[in-house]
Amino acid sequence: MPSSNSRRVILFDVDGTLVHAAGAGRRSLERVLSGEFGKVEHALAGLRLDGMTDRLIVREVLVALGRPFDDALCDRLLDGYVLALREEIRGPGFRVLPGVADLLVALSAAGADLGLCTGNVLEGARLKLARGAIDHFFEWGPDAIAGFAHDGEARELLVRAALDRGTARLGSALDPSDALVVGDTPRDVSAARAHGVPVVGVATGRYGAEELRDAGADGVLSTLEGAAPALLAWVAGGPPPGAPA
Ligand SMILES: [Mg+2]
Repeated sequence: MPSSNSRRVILFDVDGTLVHAAGAGRRSLERVLSGEFGKVEHALAGLRLDGMTDRLIVREVLVALGRPFDDALCDRLLDGYVLALREEIRGPGFRVLPGVADLLVALSAAGADLGLCTGNVLEGARLKLARGAIDHFFEWGPDAIAGFAHDGEARELLVRAALDRGTARLGSALDPSDALVVGDTPRDVSAARAHGVPVVGVATGRYGAEELRDAGADGVLSTLEGAAPALLAWVAGGPPPGAPA
């Protein structure tokens, strides 16, 4: 249980958890890669992008293309990706996932500390959430409690960055048990657990409840519909939502 003066922070993943971007990210990456290297759809064809950080996606694509990875090239490709995403995010099929908007309203109204822990680059996450008109529930400055793709290729590094920013922001050490990752993939689960952060798996992405539980999620929800009371109970010191009784 948290100590009496500790604050608890909820860290949301973006794709498959808050929104379904309907392939906008993949299309944007294909555009920027085609601009750089010519036709490259095959390089992305076999990749399961969900749960991967944008930097790791770029590395894997370059490997698939037989190109050497370097950080400057990765930065340039991701800058181009964000430019492409500004258009592609307007495409059809985008949706905010069930219950998310109401949940964020309720958590914000209760004064809960919300953050992001996402493999997106910051501007990519912001574009996706802005498309669903839910970006204003989160902070975007350098002090925001968040982890993004620029914090590292491995998802574990995003969790570490979010914990460190939480500590800086709250003015006292953010204990891993006082953070809660909410995500849709086994990668979210393993990254959080690597730091002792509890995880709620939400089965609104590619993975079902059983797969998320098998991956080690502390709690599993089929969607975020009606999840506000359980998440606020966790903020107040309770167990993660969706934990086995
Ligand atoms: Mg996700």
